[in-house]
Amino acid sequence: MGYAYRVKPDETVQLREINPDEKGGLSKSEALPLTDALGKEMSDLLELLYAANSKSLLLVLQGRDTAGKDGAIRHMLQFLNVQSCRVVPFKVPTVEEAAHDFLWRIHEHAPARGSIALFNRSHYEDVLVVRVHNLVPEEVWKRRYAHINAFESLLCDGNTIILKFYLHISKQEQEERLRAREKDPTKSWKLAVADWKERELWDEYTTAYEEALSRCSPAEAPWFIVPADHKWFRDLAITERIVKALRPYREEWMDELTQRGVVAKREIEAFRETLP
Ligand code: ADP
Repeated sequence: MGYAYRVKPDETVQLREINPDEKGGLSKSEALPLTDALGKEMSDLLELLYAANSKSLLLVLQGRDTAGKDGAIRHMLQFLNVQSCRVVPFKVPTVEEAAHDFLWRIHEHAPARGSIALFNRSHYEDVLVVRVHNLVPEEVWKRRYAHINAFESLLCDGNTIILKFYLHISKQEQEERLRAREKDPTKSWKLAVADWKERELWDEYTTAYEEALSRCSPAEAPWFIVPADHKWFRDLAITERIVKALRPYREEWMDELTQRGVVAKREIEAFRETLP
């Protein structure tokens, strides 16, 4: 068990059964040192991933407006090496992107071996906003779940570790966050009437999320539902899941590095032998 809920393959997700206000029995002051220790472990594991250069990591973040995607990314970036990590936001497709299949713009941002990609929104928008706003006919978006599963399976076969996080906030918490933005001039740039309009479609988004989470959570590329009404709990839950997913590779990566060290040392010694 972890703090974030792992969606089992082919499970039918009902978001109302998962409490966005969950705190895992912890207070904020109890959680912060745990998150910090896990963050440091994550940082070490990601250094190994980078150095071993055999696997890549794709982290997908989805959630409604104000769910905390940006905040979660900011938190993770404290523990990441900028050399090996890229944040990729996916916005409304450009004219060129829209003229291709929906995965065309995604694939080029898939992380290369040894690197990490953090997707702020993703190919899932093509079965979420696109579905809710009828941007393509139903027979088109319905077929996309299978395309998404095949695409993610392709990435996994190419040695990518995929972890997907749905940041689960309550409708009330969203209203509080939207209103708080209006009171804080430093957040004015985030104000958008579109957020209030999207909120009117809360139930439609719930249905769309439930279907995406239910249909696209194979064991190799799972979805995690992260209770996100409390930012500190969100950060703990995500960090814990990343660490748990990477720990099993520690030994393999250490072995790879040790082996490489042996070969490199042999080469250095052989070179020294050739010196006068
Ligand atoms: P964010 O809300 O992520 O901070 P923006 O305010 O620029 O950033 O919002 C990006 C917008 O792009 C969102 O409304 C999202 O639904 C939309 N979007 C992303 N991908 C697609 C897509 N494939 N088709 C239509 N809209 C999309």
